[in-house]
Amino acid sequence: MMDVRLSTQAAPDRITNEDGVLAIGALVAVFDGVTQPSTVDSGCSHGPAWYVRRLAARLALAYADAPEDPLPDLLAHAIGDVADEHRATCDLTRPATPASTVCMLREGRDHIDYLVLCDSTLVLDCGERTTAVTDNRIHQVIARTRPETVAGSEATVKPVTVAKWRHTNQRDGYWIAAANPQAAHHSVTGRAPLSGPDRVRRAALLTDGAAAAVDQFRLFDWAGLLDALASSGPAKLIGRIRSAEAAAVLDDARLRYKRYDDATAAICLFEDTDRRLLRPHVRRDITGP
Ligand SMILES: [Zn+2]
Repeated sequence: MMDVRLSTQAAPDRITNEDGVLAIGALVAVFDGVTQPSTVDSGCSHGPAWYVRRLAARLALAYADAPEDPLPDLLAHAIGDVADEHRATCDLTRPATPASTVCMLREGRDHIDYLVLCDSTLVLDCGERTTAVTDNRIHQVIARTRPETVAGSEATVKPVTVAKWRHTNQRDGYWIAAANPQAAHHSVTGRAPLSGPDRVRRAALLTDGAAAAVDQFRLFDWAGLLDALASSGPAKLIGRIRSAEAAAVLDDARLRYKRYDDATAAICLFEDTDRRLLRPHVRRDITGP
């Protein structure tokens, strides 16, 4: 019963989109593949765009096989399946092995389940309250490890990248979909009702390139972002982000090191379950020949 609109767009200065999006049955998910520096040997001949597409495809298959399974189980399954696809040809133990953030939502009969892994964002409109759910452990790691990275041993790589590698999919670090299925079980997960006063009206799934509309460019607050997505759609939102990116001053402390980023947004609109239950049941008799 949810109405879904989605858009995913590569950064205007890049050919390949390393974001991805999936909508199948009651499941919606967005993915943001981690761009690796060209000077780094990731041990994988496929790359982030391939990884994101395969992860989306494997997640769709896992969901098709077991639509009611817990979301972390479905994601763990998908991560393991993608790893199996290139385990024989690629070295999956390298720190720069392809990786992706994940944000997913599944509509149930009377609630939604959600999962956020690494720095994608889920925005929930629950009537009086709008909540943004994200997993910012990666930013905590970056903030915490800056001093220790000054003497980074790999001269061709930014020290912050080396620092991130040391803490990727480690208990005291941050978790992301890569080669280790266990990462899925360290996701931020939750559930929200589809009926009652606190019911979810709208939900947005955003990669960081789309969340930048709020947390970098301040075009809206989270509620305003939901309004924009619901009224004009995700493609228009990304268009506004492109304008903001083009106009931004690159050495602005708020701006990331790159001008443009891949951006993906999905907006889900939910019918009021209480009202749906009240609707008169229409019976249609089908008569055979
Ligand atoms: Zn590979």
